[in-house]
Amino acid sequence: MSAFLKVVFDVPLADAFTYRNDAEDPASVGRRVAAPFGRRQATGYVVGELDECDIPEAQVKRITRVIDKEPLFDARSVELSRWMAGMYFCGPGEALAAMLPSGRRESGGSLFEADEFDIEERPLALSQEQADALARMTSGPSGTYYLYGLTGSGKTEVFLQAAEATLAAGRGVIYLVPEIALTGQVVDAAMRRFGRRCAVIHSRLTPSRKLAEWRRILRGEAEVVIGARSAVFAPLARLGLVVIDEEHESSYKAGNAPRYHARQVAMRRRAAEGAVLVMGSATPSAEAWSLMEEGNVERLVLTKRLAGGAPPVVEIVDMRKEEGCISGRLADAIRDTHRAGGQSILFLNRRGFSYFFRCRSCAAEIRCRNCSVSLTFHKDRNSLVCHYCGYRVSPPRSCPECGSLDVGWSGFGTERVEEDAGRLFPDLRILRLDADSTSKKGELERILGDFREGKADILLGTQMVAKGLNFPRVKTVGVVLADTSLNLPDFRAAERTFSLVVQVAGRAGRFTPDGRVLVQTYRPDSAVIKLAAAGDLPAFYRLELAARRELGFPPYTRLVRIVFRSKERGKARDAAALFAHEARAGLPPDVEILGPAECPLALVAGTARWQLILRAAELKGMHAALGAFLPAWGVPPGVRMETDVDPTSLM
Ligand code: ADP
Ligand code: ZN
Ligand code: ZN
Repeated sequence: MSAFLKVVFDVPLADAFTYRNDAEDPASVGRRVAAPFGRRQATGYVVGELDECDIPEAQVKRITRVIDKEPLFDARSVELSRWMAGMYFCGPGEALAAMLPSGRRESGGSLFEADEFDIEERPLALSQEQADALARMTSGPSGTYYLYGLTGSGKTEVFLQAAEATLAAGRGVIYLVPEIALTGQVVDAAMRRFGRRCAVIHSRLTPSRKLAEWRRILRGEAEVVIGARSAVFAPLARLGLVVIDEEHESSYKAGNAPRYHARQVAMRRRAAEGAVLVMGSATPSAEAWSLMEEGNVERLVLTKRLAGGAPPVVEIVDMRKEEGCISGRLADAIRDTHRAGGQSILFLNRRGFSYFFRCRSCAAEIRCRNCSVSLTFHKDRNSLVCHYCGYRVSPPRSCPECGSLDVGWSGFGTERVEEDAGRLFPDLRILRLDADSTSKKGELERILGDFREGKADILLGTQMVAKGLNFPRVKTVGVVLADTSLNLPDFRAAERTFSLVVQVAGRAGRFTPDGRVLVQTYRPDSAVIKLAAAGDLPAFYRLELAARRELGFPPYTRLVRIVFRSKERGKARDAAALFAHEARAGLPPDVEILGPAECPLALVAGTARWQLILRAAELKGMHAALGAFLPAWGVPPGVRMETDVDPTSLM
């Protein structure tokens, strides 16, 4: 037992603090302790042991209490937290806290009970394509693979058998899914295959259940860990395989500090622990696609639908001549479907703005002349703003593309769509699924269950429904307005729109042989929408990656986003400007600073938000300079600063 301890706390500080280790039950690395920190008592994580004190002994405080009898983190987790602190500009204590969230925002209940699944199901006989893919990922030399294939092409079965092979070799498996509640089939399948050897970690577990699962993994009782983003930290002693299902999903990126990406952490663990990483999707992210093109990730392709079903007919609906939110053709399709005893789904894009500015004749939108991203229309100030660089113009009186005077803003919110649907289909039962339903425990499952049992005719939901779409009676799917995400002031707008349409189309045809997908748009000639409707992925990625290269966006550059928040708009803006000015000298000359600009979500709960976007061809120099500059920079009073390395959203 060491006489002194190094302890980190859940705060944005790089430092570890020294304490005397003379509690009744002495602590050791990986255990949590309660200790005096500043003027309060705080929970800390022991990350080191010292025989000699490294600060003047008179200043050393003692641990108040040791919380864990057994270490909660092994040396690998502690090392990973150091890597995260460096990579994401957070404190190592924040990184450890993120690995095992304390459950502040979590509610109780468990969706899956391991004990219910004792029957071990036998694996399916693989198709030739599946067998080839499995053979590569279990014996190939590269270590990082991408299983690319349409929905229903049998990716899950390949993942499960790769997991079996890994277990047989005496090593553990992490299987990441975007959202547990929406990927119940995968969890069920894994449970039936691996029974008690599975641990399921998800945000709806109570803190004590989560801790119990974590300890089962530490003790080696659970060797297959299934979960959303944070399951990437599962403390498996001998990690052999990480699966990232639906790799393109934005939920793999953390929305709070530390803003890690599960794919990045998985790549780090793969390299550090000698494991294999397998990602999979029907619509890979543009980053992943370019890694495959460059040969850094080996692409394994599945081309056949194993469960049968034909791809649905995808139709593009021109909204320029329509009055409401639901076109005549979509309304007819919904009524036909209802008459035939089927159900319909209407997708809205949650991430879309309710207001955007466009030409009603040619559907041109107004773009920034510096950044080429869409300008956002601010109705209250009657101006168009670029949220990357701050460029601002008054709305034009005529369309810069076609000269038409029929220009203006449109609104397309959830409420309006529900209203229109209610008016158009007074005799149909409509269920609505939105962000609120996912936060309330059991609500999401209840709504989806009701719809599956036929208790409603139309399900109105945001794109999250696309993930869990497995409703045998659904015949018609409408994407209410594909443009809402296409017009986002974000360089990933085209990618998100494309993947939404392809995912929706892929799932609609999974169960219904005569499925119809209607994609409503003001831009029926947009290449993104046409390629999505045609399901031409290679052509889309070629186009999109060429545009990214041309405009200098990832994967051809790396970005760091810095957001300044304050109750006072002026303070946030001034802090951003001051930071830009003072950081400039220390940054390599090739680093561009875009902004200060107001964030697209400029005001959140009364707090003003301004941002800087730093851009460079390579992360290394920019990252190192920021690592030196950030901790020493004095954030002005009344302002909060947040950094985001490789941001996935610039909202
Ligand atoms: P994906 O994950 O690619 O969307 P799934 O793994 O869900 O596809 O597979 C779709 C369907 O095909 C499932 O019902 C699954 O049971 C079935 N399936 C997968 N592999 C095979 C196989 N080798 N033989 C028969 N059916 C299979
Ligand atoms: Zn026009
Ligand atoms: Zn701009």
